[in-house]
Amino acid sequence: MAIKARTFYTASCDVCGSDDTDDVIPLFDTPNAAADDARTCRWLITADHQAICPTQDDQHRAALDDLLPPEPDIEIGGQLRLDLDTRD
Ligand SMILES: [Zn+2]
Repeated sequence: MAIKARTFYTASCDVCGSDDTDDVIPLFDTPNAAADDARTCRWLITADHQAICPTQDDQHRAALDDLLPPEPDIEIGGQLRLDLDTRD
């Protein structure tokens, strides 16, 4: 029996640092296999390999909001712009 060093990949949340899905730490031979498995456990893995676990708290929601594109500034010819106050 030999002792060998091995290299594995696993998804790690960029928000909280968690690297488990369903209380286990899955190990994979490739980054894409780790990303695919994380997606099956409701993780968000972006094209540039940012990973966000499915934890529902303010930090995770803020991280997801940061990934959204800015709201478009829509102006339609011939219509006046509505300046809605969205503050509470
Ligand atoms: Zn997380």
